[in-house]
Amino acid sequence: MSLIRTIQCRFYGALNRFLRPEQRHRGFSRAVKGIPAIKDTLEALGVPHTEIDCIVVNGRCVRFLYQIRGGERIQVYPDAGKVKLKKIIRRSLKPKPPANPKFVLDVHLGKLARHLRLLGFDVIYQKDMEDAAIVCMGGKSRRIILTRDIGLLKNKIVRHGYFVRATDPKKQIREIVRRFDLAAKMRPFRLCLECNGRIRRIAKSRIENRLPPLTREHYTRFYHCPRCDKIYWQGAHYKQFLKIIKTIRH
Ligand SMILES: [Zn+2]
Repeated sequence: MSLIRTIQCRFYGALNRFLRPEQRHRGFSRAVKGIPAIKDTLEALGVPHTEIDCIVVNGRCVRFLYQIRGGERIQVYPDAGKVKLKKIIRRSLKPKPPANPKFVLDVHLGKLARHLRLLGFDVIYQKDMEDAAIVCMGGKSRRIILTRDIGLLKNKIVRHGYFVRATDPKKQIREIVRRFDLAAKMRPFRLCLECNGRIRRIAKSRIENRLPPLTREHYTRFYHCPRCDKIYWQGAHYKQFLKIIKTIRH
């Protein structure tokens, strides 16, 4: 027979949104069975480990593998830098985002995928991609998982993951650029919006017969994706880019 014990929990800042309303911004008690890892207990309350940066148990920072034995007082923070507890050695649990971030997006974030590619960021996105494949890319190939599916982020192999708060695509791109500090790393005219292939300059003479009449008349600079054969020209592509930049700076 396993014993049921209780713990006291308190979540801070942005983590509260993942909790049930009656548990937000206040301490509450929770029953635990056996000796669970703290990661599993916090995720059972709704908070994926990828959003947690610091866990304090009875005044001491612990890692996700800490085993709960009952009776603990647990404080959970989204950012170790903002923990306001004296006499505590703060330990940050979130890994540093990679210097050249690459992403994998869940099936609901098609627009965000195109916008990120437009800014020059490597994004894997497929409408029919299985959750297991997304999780795998967030583990082995160290891509940052962007998702609106909290369950995806709870898998223990996920290192870099982020729950996208906004539902409007314009707000989503702004949120991601700010969250991952991408503004200085943008490189437009690099990636194909359709397939993430590398686009290259191509002579107008080679694709002239495929252009709509007005485009043929007004544009001279063209790009081609060798992977999916799509053609881009500066007019349309550049206008889209400027729109996104405006959104980000708004
Ligand atoms: Zn392509």
